Amino acid sequence: MGTLFALSVAGPDRDAALRASEKAVEEIARVEALLTTWRSGGPLDSVNTAPPGTPVVLEPELSKLLGEVFAWSDRTDGAFDPTVLPLVRAWDLRGPGRIPDAAALSRALAATGRGRFQFDSGTGRTMRLSADAGIDEGAWGKGYALDRAVSALRRCGVSEALLDLGGQVAAVGRGTVAVADPRDRLRTAVALSVEDESVSTSGNSERGRTVAGRRIGHLLDPRTGQPAPDFGSATAVTTSGLSADVLSTAFFVLGPEKGLELSERLRREGLRNEALFLVVAEGRLRVVASPGIPARLEKEESR
Ligand code: ADP
Ligand code: MG
Repeated sequence: MGTLFALSVAGPDRDAALRASEKAVEEIARVEALLTTWRSGGPLDSVNTAPPGTPVVLEPELSKLLGEVFAWSDRTDGAFDPTVLPLVRAWDLRGPGRIPDAAALSRALAATGRGRFQFDSGTGRTMRLSADAGIDEGAWGKGYALDRAVSALRRCGVSEALLDLGGQVAAVGRGTVAVADPRDRLRTAVALSVEDESVSTSGNSERGRTVAGRRIGHLLDPRTGQPAPDFGSATAVTTSGLSADVLSTAFFVLGPEKGLELSERLRREGLRNEALFLVVAEGRLRVVASPGIPARLEKEESR
């Protein structure tokens, strides 16, 4: 996953806590092997490399997960879209970055979208319909890995833990999660109290590329094919790691105004979630947040 995993487990017994921690780490490694498309031959990578039109039978876990992830693309009106891989390639976000010409961009746009896959969660069969279509795990794989690690800890009887996978956090029991200042990631802008929830932040500070003096963010708007405008960062707080990961990406792509609308719509539909936007304007930080955020603020440093 190209990132660090930090874990703290509280418990009455050191050996039990260490054993539980090992289980959590094993789960992260297992999910990485399932989902990585950075190495070839894994189950998700096999979907991306099967000849177009050839059905691939997915193992039940991957089938269920892809069903959920595709559904999230609908729920976010395509702001989050796991089939964004052709665009990721066009902008060479896995390499040094590139500004695609108009022809390359429209080819990549045409290859993006869940319509490029025929997917049947009942049979677990999926089919890639065009040669350049592909699924990118970058915006949801870590969230799912966190969920599996949390389940592993719970199975071991752990009731208090904090897991941090590359800045996305899951708390078992209560915890405090720092949200970085998008102007200076080493500083905490906001600390949020959470309980049995996950917090994910999407922003451009770390993984963007600079090509010919132009800054290209690693979050793309699948509807336009362009990097999403960089305003600062978007944070999602919700009940699972997967949905937090998905939503922080969608919130960032949508921006504060439309992102808050999505957050509210999902709340009305019954998904407990909060959205926090740290907006940088003229060097200053503005906080835009959904109604449940203020009660969770533990500290807000000077801006
Ligand atoms: P991070 O990986 O930095 O935590 P995200 O969870 O937001 O950030 O995931 C960003 C990654 O997801 C990108 O590097 C890219 O591989 C992929 N991606 C970019 N834009 C989108 C999008 N709109 N929907 C789904 N995946 C995306
Ligand atoms: Mg994400």
